[in-house]
Amino acid sequence: MVTQNIDGLHQRAGSGDVIELHGSMFRFKCLHGEHTGFVLDDFAGQNEKPPRCPQCGELLRPDVVWFGEALPGDAIDRAQALSAACDVMLVVGTSGVVYPAAALPLLAVEAGATVIDVNPERDAVATAADIFLQGQGAEVLPQLVVAVREHLAG
Ligand SMILES: [Zn+2]
Repeated sequence: MVTQNIDGLHQRAGSGDVIELHGSMFRFKCLHGEHTGFVLDDFAGQNEKPPRCPQCGELLRPDVVWFGEALPGDAIDRAQALSAACDVMLVVGTSGVVYPAAALPLLAVEAGATVIDVNPERDAVATAADIFLQGQGAEVLPQLVVAVREHLAG
């Protein structure tokens, strides 16, 4: 699971291995990113607002990617490696215009994977994809699950 979401919804839905390309609003790092991985509970007993990095005393910020910042290197490296190695890629609800994430489906296509794009709009990903399912993910994905289950049962 590779996501541009920062809201932890995939983890709450039960996905175990989530690569967060744009970070997480539930993690914190110090202002210059030297120390990372803090969560709100780490500062439960601290009165100072806003809380400061326990290791260097610098102000903390959400561990998300702001405009103009690079994506976390380990996350994009891993997403690219998985994209180049997968058999099937399901692309859901992305505009397909924010790079480097938008290049991941193209990596999968080049590597010979079957790419399925679920999107209300026919965009650049749909053009490159093997299968384009037009519609909202919340409507198309349950139908896809039913179809796959019927196929596997039949
Ligand atoms: Zn720090």
